[in-house]
Amino acid sequence: MQEQLNLAPFGYLVMNNKLGILDMNQTMHEWVGVESAPAHMHDLLTIPSRIYFQTYFSPSIKMHGKVNEMYLTLKTKSEQIPVLMNTVERNEQYECVFVQMKVRDEYENELLLAKRNAERILHDTDEAYMKLQGLMKEVEGKQQELLELNTQLKELATTDPLTGLKNRRCLQEKIMENIELSKKEHCSFSLLLIDIDFFKRVNDTYGHPIGDAVLQELAMKLQVETRTQDLVARMGGEEFMIVLPNTNKEHARVIAERIRLNIDHGSWKHARITVSIGVTTYEHDDNLSKLFSKADDALYRSKNGGRNCVSVS
Ligand code: GH3
Ligand code: MG
Ligand code: MG
Repeated sequence: MQEQLNLAPFGYLVMNNKLGILDMNQTMHEWVGVESAPAHMHDLLTIPSRIYFQTYFSPSIKMHGKVNEMYLTLKTKSEQIPVLMNTVERNEQYECVFVQMKVRDEYENELLLAKRNAERILHDTDEAYMKLQGLMKEVEGKQQELLELNTQLKELATTDPLTGLKNRRCLQEKIMENIELSKKEHCSFSLLLIDIDFFKRVNDTYGHPIGDAVLQELAMKLQVETRTQDLVARMGGEEFMIVLPNTNKEHARVIAERIRLNIDHGSWKHARITVSIGVTTYEHDDNLSKLFSKADDALYRSKNGGRNCVSVS
């Protein structure tokens, strides 16, 4: 074999058409690490590579007279060498050239590893994102719960437990709001202070629980008697107050009289009652205590006037 071909930086071998090896250059000898050339091409290949070679080489060379870029793996004593093989048929012999693909193989392996790592990181990121979303949903849920609890708490803080009406604290806030509004818009509002007549007797006659039931029944009747914009509150004991926004003195008196009458003539489940009512209307410079005091005075006059009646301050 020519010196240059013998030591060329590629493997070179010649096979007969039965794939028996006839000659091999020195480079190829050094790669596979044998003194003399193996008998058959199959002896040079790893098992998977041999199966691939058997399947594709013969049909291809018979059809085209050559094989281009066949990717094979040579087996040596110590390692496996990936190679690319080109073959041409000449005079019923096959001349083959092999180029090592080690670097490219390593490069491909590295690429594959990087791709796997990227996929793993993506998967981990996805998982973390899902977890984060779960946590965010939980936080949202808790925030909603908190909002609902706050609403419930506010409701409890402003509600009278026996009657379910608004309590004195809420009443005062509502009156303050109406004072501000009246000042700003030069309008007026009225208050009805309602006190059950001789309620002590109801308790004494029927017992305290029936007294409670009467208070609840009266609360319901007052709600029915009022408009959506009005506020009915329990001041405490057997005293109630109704805030009538945007209502002048005369209109408030008419409403009070109607309420008093309906209570007097209404049907009662447990015990009949009547109420005395004091009416007052916001006037320029009135404050909360002034309004309460005016309502009290009017109620006092109703009580002194024989009860079951309406007085206007
Ligand atoms: P007046 O016509 O002068 O208002 O007479 P009254 O008996 O209604 O007034 P008084 O202030 O003497 O008595 C009020 C009664 O209301 C006494 C108290 O036991 C009763 N009372 C106050 N709060 C409650 C309650 O929550 N439940 C019941 N059952 N009774 C109550
Ligand atoms: Mg009273
Ligand atoms: Mg009373």
